[in-house]
Amino acid sequence: MITLPNNVSLKLKNLAKEKESVRRKLVITARKLAVIAREKEKARRDLVITARQLAVTASEKESTRRKLVITARKLKSLYETLEKKVLNRTKDLEQIRSKSEAILTSIGDGLVVVDKEGKINYINRSFEEMLGWKTKEIIGKSMVQVVPREDVHGTKVSFKERILTQVLSGQKFIADLTNPFYYIRKDKSRFPTSSIVAPVTLNGKIVGAVEVFRDITKEKEIDKAKTEFVSLASHQLRTPLSTVNWYSEMLLTGDAGVVTPSQKKYLEEIYAGNQRMVELVNTLLDVSRIELGTLIIESKPTNIVKLMESVIDEQRPQINEKRIKFLSSFKKNFPLLKTDPKLLRMVMQNILSNAVKYTPDGGKINVHLVLDENKNVLLTISDTGYGIPKDQQSKIFTKLFRADNVIGKDTEGTGLGLYIAKSIVEQAGGNLWFESSEKKGSTFFVTLPLHKPKKKNGYRRSFLNTN
Ligand code: ADP
Repeated sequence: MITLPNNVSLKLKNLAKEKESVRRKLVITARKLAVIAREKEKARRDLVITARQLAVTASEKESTRRKLVITARKLKSLYETLEKKVLNRTKDLEQIRSKSEAILTSIGDGLVVVDKEGKINYINRSFEEMLGWKTKEIIGKSMVQVVPREDVHGTKVSFKERILTQVLSGQKFIADLTNPFYYIRKDKSRFPTSSIVAPVTLNGKIVGAVEVFRDITKEKEIDKAKTEFVSLASHQLRTPLSTVNWYSEMLLTGDAGVVTPSQKKYLEEIYAGNQRMVELVNTLLDVSRIELGTLIIESKPTNIVKLMESVIDEQRPQINEKRIKFLSSFKKNFPLLKTDPKLLRMVMQNILSNAVKYTPDGGKINVHLVLDENKNVLLTISDTGYGIPKDQQSKIFTKLFRADNVIGKDTEGTGLGLYIAKSIVEQAGGNLWFESSEKKGSTFFVTLPLHKPKKKNGYRRSFLNTN
């Protein structure tokens, strides 16, 4: 065995120690490197996972983007189709609208549509032409205020009485054809019209109204010409009728010599027939005077109870002949009325003679004359006669109308009496109406104001005044 010097052996020992220390350090470093390498590997794996996840998300986003693009394209095409449809529909509607507009414009009648407050929504061209208002001036304004309405006497029809107001407040349908009134133009001139108003309803609620009106100036002129003709013809008929009357009376009284009994019978027929003709001619003259406004009024203080009594006395023979139970009651101390007794007599005669005529033998008639709660004269004449069929009641005051149920009976009539009576009463500011039930009887009511009616012109002014 080689023995190394001490210093060498020490050096070697030191060298060995250093190597060992280096080795250990290397081992430690190697371990650390291994740890770092593991961590790096883990980080790499994590990165790979994240990269994969990102790749998945990106592909999902891409697919969503594609879907969105497809949806957007679909929406665009849908929008274009819809736009086309809307355009076509608008065109169609425009065509329909212009068609309706053309129809509404070309009808000769005036047309106005109002909302539920009576404000104008639409007017047609005839409205513009007839009333002188332009659409832009009148839309949104109240029809009743902008276009006033007057009756034949020039009295302004109140808001409440306007048919438009009545329709808007719930009445189904109103035709004002028989009772002509006047519309006032923008320039304040007026023209006669007749109109029809119907409500516009939505889900059962009134949301407005439509009025159609017509200028009836021409019709009125024709009617006037007709009335003038009737008046003229009736006047011409009076002379020959008076001659027949006069000579037949002379023959009947024996002033022209003795006649045989059978000749007398024929003469009586001629006389009675002639009398009926005279009455008819007089009635026709009354109608034409009323319509032409030429009825002469001679008002004077009148005791209307006496007047009624004399009319009853006149009817006594027929009342007795038909054994009618007759009852009358009059208010005591009736005030005197300044009125035309001839006209009032005509009204009383017409109603009472109808009651007698249309009540069969043994029936009942009651006549009452009182002042009502408003201190108006109220005359009531009721009978237990044939009555008036419900479906014909609305026509009873129409000229020449006679109800079916009396035409077959042995009664004579012209259908003019009630028309005349109603005209006289209404011109006097009063009312004439009735209640009736077929086979049970009828009651006719007449009211006349005690106080002077407001209106001016014509016979209305002076027909009935308080004394
Ligand atoms: P007329 O000459 O026919 O009596 P009016 O104008 O006086 O004409 O009456 C019109 C119609 O009204 C009559 O034809 C009749 O049908 C009906 N009428 C009037 N008064 C009565 C009454 N008291 N009872 C039944 N019907 C009546």
